[in-house]
Amino acid sequence: MATPTNKPAEWHSPHSGDGRRTLSPRPRVADFLAGLTGVGFGAVTALTFESESSAGLHSAGGWALAATRLSGFWGTYLLLIMVLLMVRLPWLERTVGQDQLVRWHRKVAPWATSLTSLHVLISILAYAQMLHNPVWSEAWTFVLHYPDMLAAYVGWILLLVAAFSSIRIARRKMRYETWWVVHLYTYLGLGLSFMHQIRVGVMFIGHPLTTQIWVWTWIGAGIVTLLWRIALPIVRNLQFGLRVADITEVAPGVRSITVSGRHLDRLAVNGGQFFQWRFLARNLWWHSHPYSLSALPRPPFLRVTVKGLGDQSTALANLRVGTRVFVEGPYGAFTRHRMTRERVVLIGAGVGITPLRALLEDLPENRPVSVIVRARNHDDVVHGDEMKALVEARHGVYHELIGRRDEVALDGTSLNTLAEGLSESDVFVCGPEGFTESVMASLQEVGVPHDRIHFESFTF
Ligand SMILES: Cc1cc2nc3c(=O)[nH]c(=O)nc-3n(C[C@H](O)[C@H](O)[C@H](O)COP(=O)(O)OP(=O)(O)OC[C@H]3O[C@@H](n4cnc5c(N)ncnc54)[C@H](O)[C@@H]3O)c2cc1C
Repeated sequence: MATPTNKPAEWHSPHSGDGRRTLSPRPRVADFLAGLTGVGFGAVTALTFESESSAGLHSAGGWALAATRLSGFWGTYLLLIMVLLMVRLPWLERTVGQDQLVRWHRKVAPWATSLTSLHVLISILAYAQMLHNPVWSEAWTFVLHYPDMLAAYVGWILLLVAAFSSIRIARRKMRYETWWVVHLYTYLGLGLSFMHQIRVGVMFIGHPLTTQIWVWTWIGAGIVTLLWRIALPIVRNLQFGLRVADITEVAPGVRSITVSGRHLDRLAVNGGQFFQWRFLARNLWWHSHPYSLSALPRPPFLRVTVKGLGDQSTALANLRVGTRVFVEGPYGAFTRHRMTRERVVLIGAGVGITPLRALLEDLPENRPVSVIVRARNHDDVVHGDEMKALVEARHGVYHELIGRRDEVALDGTSLNTLAEGLSESDVFVCGPEGFTESVMASLQEVGVPHDRIHFESFTF
């Protein structure tokens, strides 16, 4: 059996950094993948046009059928891209960041769903027009008599369910876990729609090369998904064998959870990154939540610091030492690789201080650093003593602003006073949503350009 070990973790002393494996962003890989996505889109469009003929277009319902093919092919391609954006490809995760990938995924989603729905609706209308059948009868004929069409319809409905569950109002009313399970329907929906594409798609019938390319695109997407979302996390967790080693309350309602495991010296991670954490205890094993490391790893230990906000984060207070832990990651691009200037300013509030604490430890030596931490009461400052010690070791400047927002302002003027050379610095911000937004507005007001303000959002 692996750990837990009784040896206490040395979180207070600065990390030695010796021999630690780190991860660099891979902008070239990200650019290559973006280019490949564009080429794929072009190829899909070209293949659809290539399968059209002038006679076909001018026959009854010809244009509508062409539109149905194009919307179907485009919609499916975008769905594949949406899946691949969420596959947790490590190069993309640490170059672009998961929050940005989620934003792209959300931007593509309405297009993919609308195009797929257009494909379904126009195909029924076009066939009804072409064969002079009533619309409902044509829809029924599709389901009953066309190969694999029933499965494709079920797939489309599942897709719609997943799409509606993601609309903001519905999403707010739903538990995260329910929404997540519903979201898995997308994979099922995609799988169910696959065969009808090959068996009835005009661009595939009699075109073996096109069929091969399309089939291998799907197989490739499937392999990538299985590898990075399922196989790799399982292998790594078997290797690490993580277990809870210690839970300590560090501020009211905030606990640091130390886990220990094997071979953690092989874990490449940057300060500021996060993992998805699954604690394998009764009633908790099916929750997987993102928490940032609150310090660089000290093999055999890792640490997160969690504020009890909802059901999972609150229940973590009752975890037993020895509970197995399953992690996925590291993810996120809120790291020192974002830096473009000598000076660094870190601004945090609440539990948002945790990634800043790990990031601070990971900053290159001799960088002038200012840290501003805001809290309502002194007791609420999370890891304040550790932050202070780390800043002092770097001869930086550490400020704690204690009090209510209306009592202690954190506007442009106060930020300029507290952080020397602010407008010439890279600024990393993490805290509650309202806090981050107001700090970002103040930073822009005092002339910090947008591309030098880096923030981590705790909600996707
Ligand atoms: C990148 C990132 C890093 C984070 N790091 C920390 C940290 O270091 N310490 C800390 O205390 N909190 C952190 N959080 C926030 C933490 O994940 C949520 O507070 C926690 O998931 C709440 O879960 P719950 O079941 O207790 O509450 P719920 O009531 O289920 O959820 C409360 C809120 O958290 C959101 N949420 C729940 N589960 C997830 C999930 N798996 N993915 C994304 N959002 C979710 C919900 O949409 C809701 O807005 C981080 C969040 C993100 C996105």
